[in-house]
Amino acid sequence: MNIVTPNSQFVASTRWTWQQHVKAAIRSAAELRRVLGLPLRVGEELAGERQFETFAPLPFVARMEPGNEADPLLRQVLPTAAEGESVAGFSNDPNAESEVSRAPGVLQKYPGRALLIAAKTCAVNCRYCFRRAYPYESGPTSREDWRPSLDQIATDHSIEEVILSGGEPLINDDTRLEWLVQEISRIPHIRRLRIHSRFPIVIPQRVTEGLLELLSDTRLPTTMVLHTNHAQELGDDVGDALTKLRQVPRLVLLNQSVLLRGINDSVRVLTELSWRLLEFGIVPYYLHQLDRVTGSHHFEVEQARGLALIEQLRNSLPGYAVPRYAVEVPGCSSKQILA
Ligand SMILES: *Cc1c(COP(=O)(O)O)cnc(C)c1O
Ligand code: SF4
Repeated sequence: MNIVTPNSQFVASTRWTWQQHVKAAIRSAAELRRVLGLPLRVGEELAGERQFETFAPLPFVARMEPGNEADPLLRQVLPTAAEGESVAGFSNDPNAESEVSRAPGVLQKYPGRALLIAAKTCAVNCRYCFRRAYPYESGPTSREDWRPSLDQIATDHSIEEVILSGGEPLINDDTRLEWLVQEISRIPHIRRLRIHSRFPIVIPQRVTEGLLELLSDTRLPTTMVLHTNHAQELGDDVGDALTKLRQVPRLVLLNQSVLLRGINDSVRVLTELSWRLLEFGIVPYYLHQLDRVTGSHHFEVEQARGLALIEQLRNSLPGYAVPRYAVEVPGCSSKQILA
């Protein structure tokens, strides 16, 4: 780990549980700057922070390079003044999710697959998050709250796959998660489970024995789609967690990334990311064009440039190492594959 800051928090933190890491996460731009030895920018970052709070867990911060304002991990979590600007074409609900909500916390856009918002919060707040303005207050929080969502899935026989998403589904502890997975697996027409999670990347301690057991025990073939944007996110601590996940029988591990200006919009960075993922047995699945959510315009990469990047990747890498470049278009029955 890249622990060279004078901050003893980092040193102590390697043995903490994931819950302790959630509690101890850095919750302000000023604190993030302080632990990384960066100059304070009083006021400037507040525009972004007011809209969407800073939340950066220590294991993720420990992989950042101290003193480097342009660090690709830091840029994903540090609020900036640009977030406060309103730009034409960007809105609070870019994917028109409010129109595809079937029950509180259930989104169904694509045939056969229902997405369950299984948590209101995340283990990290990514500044470009397309749900940064999602009305999570309307989603389920307790077992009783989940009932209408589960009932809705149980009555719709066209649904074969349930996707636990968020927020961050793994913010639920193992007991709650086990209950939820059992409830889902009890619905006879559900044949597959999917978990969209960034937790093993930002707080690898989340990969507990309990989690491994519940994933091993379910009757449902399960796919976990991780979210990593840069090879530097895949530190050795993450590698250990991913190695454990790979021991779960039948678990398929994929990764999705978001194409982000100044973070991973280069052939070198995307190539390194693919190789690092494959080193841990994770297959690159999607490279998403940024969803145009208010406050994220400074991360956008033009599609023409994205297409050129994919073409260059395809010229130098085996097919399985090149993610599908995809964009979400409201109203379409699948994500649109650009390349
Ligand atoms: C992305 C997404 C899915 C999954 O799409 P795949 O192409 O199967 O990965 C399902 N539901 C919603 C609402 C989504 O946004
Ligand atoms: S992990 Fe995903 S849902 Fe959570 S803040 Fe980041 S992009 Fe948003």
